[in-house]
This record gives sequence, C-alpha cells and structure tokens, in this order.
Amino acid sequence: MAILEHGLNDEERRVLLNHGTEAPFCGTLLEEKRAGVFCCRLCGLPLFQTKTKFESGTGWPSFNTPYDPEHVRAITDTSYGMVRVETRCARCDSHQATSFPTARRLRASATASTRRP
Ligand SMILES: [Zn+2]
Repeated sequence: MAILEHGLNDEERRVLLNHGTEAPFCGTLLEEKRAGVFCCRLCGLPLFQTKTKFESGTGWPSFNTPYDPEHVRAITDTSYGMVRVETRCARCDSHQATSFPTARRLRASATASTRRP
C-alpha cells in the first residue's frame, strides 16, 4: 500500500486515507458524461460506470448502482447523531464518499476516483 500511496497529493491523501470529505461542486468528474468507468484513485478497481451516473444536485457525482456490488463496500456511520453511509473501495478500503441512506444512491468523489474510457 505504501507504493500505491506514492503519487497522491495532499488532498487525495486526505480524502482517500483519512476519510475526508471533498467539497461539493469542485470535482472535475461532476460534469463528466462520456462513457467510461470510474476507478478507485488508489488501486484502480472499477467502481462505477458513467451510464449509471445521474444528476443529483448535491455537487458530487452520484450513481444508481456500482460497477460490481463486490467492488464497493458500504459502512454505516451513526456518529454526529445521524445515519450516513460511507462508500469504500472493497479492495484497498480507501474512502470514496459519504451519503445518506434515505437517498438510496452511491457517490464518488473526483478526488477518490479516476475515469477510464
Ligand atoms: Zn481501491
């Protein structure tokens, strides 16, 4: 994992490894509409496909379904007095995004993922 971490900038390190939250509307993938796959920034595992992406109005890229249910792990977080679901890469356990379970959607942050054709 030390090798994978090499090459991350400070912001990527904060989001992926320290489970930080990317500010909304700043991600470069929010407007991305070209067909492709969103992969984990850290280990390259495919997480989402552009065709399941939709405009949620939240400021983060949102998806109806994962690329493969086995590739994404959902961790329920009840701290701060509310229920939130954290999305993590199932292979390297890096943080991808946080969402509310009522929304029934998955999110990716541009910091935590890269797009591949
Ligand atoms: Zn990963």
